Amino acid sequence: MGNYLFKLAALTTTALLLQACGGDAQTAAGGAAEPQQTYEWKLVTTWPKNFPALGRAPELLAEKVEAMSNGRMKIRVYGDGELVPALEVFDAVSAGTAEIGHGAAYYWKGKVPEAQFFSVLPFGMNGQEMQAWIQYGGGMELWEELYVPFNLIPMSSGSTGVQMGGWFNKEINSKEDFRGLKMRIPGLAQDILSRLGGVPVNMPGSELFTALQTGVLDATEWVGPYNDLAFGLYEIADYYYYPGWHEPGAIIEFTFNKQKFEALPADLQEILRTAVEAVALGMTNEFLARNALSLQELEENHGVVPRQFPEDLLHELNTIAQEEIDKLADLSPMGARIHQSYREFEASMSEYQDVSEEAYTRARKL
Ligand code: CA
Repeated sequence: MGNYLFKLAALTTTALLLQACGGDAQTAAGGAAEPQQTYEWKLVTTWPKNFPALGRAPELLAEKVEAMSNGRMKIRVYGDGELVPALEVFDAVSAGTAEIGHGAAYYWKGKVPEAQFFSVLPFGMNGQEMQAWIQYGGGMELWEELYVPFNLIPMSSGSTGVQMGGWFNKEINSKEDFRGLKMRIPGLAQDILSRLGGVPVNMPGSELFTALQTGVLDATEWVGPYNDLAFGLYEIADYYYYPGWHEPGAIIEFTFNKQKFEALPADLQEILRTAVEAVALGMTNEFLARNALSLQELEENHGVVPRQFPEDLLHELNTIAQEEIDKLADLSPMGARIHQSYREFEASMSEYQDVSEEAYTRARKL
């Protein structure tokens, strides 16, 4: 045993010496991988600084990367408007004003409509299915390809889980109740609201409370009980509807400036990727845990009584949603490829969920 340990120690010493020689050689040759080079990066987000879950995720990334890199990389996080406005995060990271962004892909639909596939689609895949598609179903490769022309590398920051349907100042009983309704809602649901005669509004979270209070908006959705409670939306709206048919599990995204990311030493790239995965899992779990507690708080302390959208309305919205999703295939050859991959994976999920999650969810209530 002692002899084995001695040999192991000798081997380890040899390996360290070899590593050190490699490092010297790279330094002498002027390589980019100098061991002590440090990096100070900026991260811009679409959320208020330190907002629960959404705003904490980038802070956690910064903390993990600094610890894992032994201080070689420091990331400074800027909230909505601190360096750039929320809805300019995509352009800021693309241009290199900041190296990292945090937001959601459907915010960029005006510039890259195909990006909507990688956040969430109304009546589409839920958060768990989306993450499976992205990581193991070919979604990630398509997402990366879509962002190449913008000098960006996307990564999933996890899912919000199924969202709530939103806050309204009147009852919603049929699709006619959406006519003329000025509602903040993101992504493809904007096109659905337009078809119903409503007025979709693109607006970052930080402006919602005031907009609803002053009548700029008649209704707004935000995320779920955890985040909706944080903005105090219950104070100014009468009705809280579910389920969030428009967002059955939004994927939150990190974007990296591609040039800056690829210029990093390989170990720092891997540290960033690994830290993002850890943050993504944590955020997904945080939403589920805290949404449940926050719904209780809304009901017990603030008198909120959640209402379910009528089933015939949900059926009508679903029919329109499927038509709008299929229109995305006509956007571009890239849109057609993403649409095919999404639909194929969604079909396999639907078939499997019948005998797994859905079957179990029904069974445990018997
Ligand atoms: Ca939302």
